[in-house]
Amino acid sequence: MSPSERQFTTSVLVIGCGGSGLRAAIAVAERGIDVLVVGKRAEADAHTSLAAGGINAALGTMDPQDSWQQHAADTLKEGYFLADPNTVRTVAEGAARGIADLERWGMRFAREPDGRISQRYFGAHTFRRTAYAGDYTGLEIQRTLVRRGRELDVPVLDTMYVTRLLTREDVVFGAYGFDLVDGTRYVVHADAVILAAGGHTRIWRRSSSRRDENSGDAFRLAVTAGARIRDPELVQFHPSGLLGPEDAAGTLVSEAARGEGGVLRNAAGERFMERYDPVRLELSTRDRVALAEYTEIKEGRGTPGGGVWLDVSHLPRETIMQRLPRVYRTLIELQMLDITTTPVEIAPTAHYSMGGVRVRSEDHSTDVAGLFAVGEAASGLHGANRLGGNSLIELLVYGRIAGTAAADHSVHLPAQPRSSTALVEARDEVTRLLSTNGPENVRSLQRAVRDTMTEHVGVVRDEDGLRAGLARLDDIESAAKSIGVHTDLAGFQDLAHAFDLRSSLVAAQATAEAALERRETRGCHNRSDFPDLDESLRVNLIWSGPGRVDREPVAETPIEIAAFVREVSTHGKLVE
Ligand SMILES: Cc1cc2nc3c(=O)[nH]c(=O)nc-3n(C[C@H](O)[C@H](O)[C@H](O)COP(=O)(O)OP(=O)(O)OC[C@H]3O[C@@H](n4cnc5c(N)ncnc54)[C@H](O)[C@@H]3O)c2cc1C
Repeated sequence: MSPSERQFTTSVLVIGCGGSGLRAAIAVAERGIDVLVVGKRAEADAHTSLAAGGINAALGTMDPQDSWQQHAADTLKEGYFLADPNTVRTVAEGAARGIADLERWGMRFAREPDGRISQRYFGAHTFRRTAYAGDYTGLEIQRTLVRRGRELDVPVLDTMYVTRLLTREDVVFGAYGFDLVDGTRYVVHADAVILAAGGHTRIWRRSSSRRDENSGDAFRLAVTAGARIRDPELVQFHPSGLLGPEDAAGTLVSEAARGEGGVLRNAAGERFMERYDPVRLELSTRDRVALAEYTEIKEGRGTPGGGVWLDVSHLPRETIMQRLPRVYRTLIELQMLDITTTPVEIAPTAHYSMGGVRVRSEDHSTDVAGLFAVGEAASGLHGANRLGGNSLIELLVYGRIAGTAAADHSVHLPAQPRSSTALVEARDEVTRLLSTNGPENVRSLQRAVRDTMTEHVGVVRDEDGLRAGLARLDDIESAAKSIGVHTDLAGFQDLAHAFDLRSSLVAAQATAEAALERRETRGCHNRSDFPDLDESLRVNLIWSGPGRVDREPVAETPIEIAAFVREVSTHGKLVE
């Protein structure tokens, strides 16, 4: 052990201090079991705090006829029947408890005058079932969970970048990493590890995630440890991401801008939605608007910056200031642009990873004994399209279940096998990267990955493009062997970026290979060379490393849920 290496031992290690990680840690701590939460970004500022619109549970506060079965049926249908029915059932049935937990811990939900929790429509929901806290639902959830964690004295180290899970013969025994501020190395020994490290949407040029989050770390950590990835190709693109500035590209412009009467135009000034959905126009579904924008841009009718125009300037100034204050403020802050007078350039932006680590529906355990995955890092709930508001409730339901299962695993573990070889490998990996001094720049290779994914594995895909994308990723991977990592007094961000790049490359390869294998168009996944849905591909694609994609059948929808599956209008129900 080097002098600058510190060693911790805990029963359960949680990697990620977003909503899912914190909820899991609370479940562990409430059982009286030791837990440590680590993250690579300040706990209060985890990605979860960005979520705006709301969180689903069939509470029936506004529409008493709602039921968990209806919630489950809406989720399965919206996901084009690729979601795992057991997972869907668990979330829909457990949702009310998830909300009750938040209420008990002091979450300030919006309420009706008589005290009921307010619920609104969100996307393809049959009834009003989305609870919210103004425009800041995710932030309020994050604050509530942080507060509850502190009450339980849950220790949090939110400057630890995890570089590797430590395993011995398919059993996890901890994790290795370094401190982002002073470079101290950390070895954490644990009986169980919960991976709550988010998704992989930052591997596209435009993403609604911030710069250094969702770089696919969960993919790389899981696969390196021996776990597998399910449906990495299923990624939701949101139709309104900003084009600039560069470091904020993809930041969401709320769909409320279209909901309030915003109009989409191409470079020629045509209101192009008249051609794609003449009835609903800009209020069409998210995937259709994103596809329409993509087509306009691809066929040369895009704006100078490569997007389309979103125009609200015809609306009265007071309407904009009252109904779209956040959009107004964001555009002033990021682009010094006044939306009351000037249209905004937008384009589709990578928003949510429906796929992720393959987990069992019972407890979110993985193929590696003692390793669990939760939140956007995991998979199974959303299928080929996410029902708006479902990811936040998943964090709570499966956070609790996985936390409890990990605590049980620790309690019943007779002995903890460790491996000094695994530790040496993890240590050497960091040391080798720190001593590299090659000519390649990490940031420009990250950009190359994002450009490649945007060009070849974006909203619309085809065989030739995917193969070209994979070849380009190979080149970038070769170049990544010659990077230079330079740390300085400001911290170890350069080392973090080097690991982010490695994770992005793994996530990108998994995504492109599975996208190649899914020769159909289903939900968010558009193949221009296979424009129809193929019933025989109602399977999950399981990626276990380069070149290895297997099919796994999806379980049948249980009769008590199938009876509730129906067409649901999304008219006027926008989602974030
Ligand atoms: C703009 C926006 C609006 C949204 N609105 C909604 C909504 O209204 N309703 C809804 O249901 N969903 C919404 N979502 C989606 C939802 O916010 C996310 O899916 C959810 O918050 C993910 O939570 P998580 O706990 O899984 O991961 P995150 O909150 O992403 O947390 C991941 C954690 O892992 C840590 N981490 C990652 N890699 C490492 C590493 N190598 N080492 C150490 N730590 C690591 C990070 O630092 C972080 O703490 C929205 C998303 C966005 C971007």
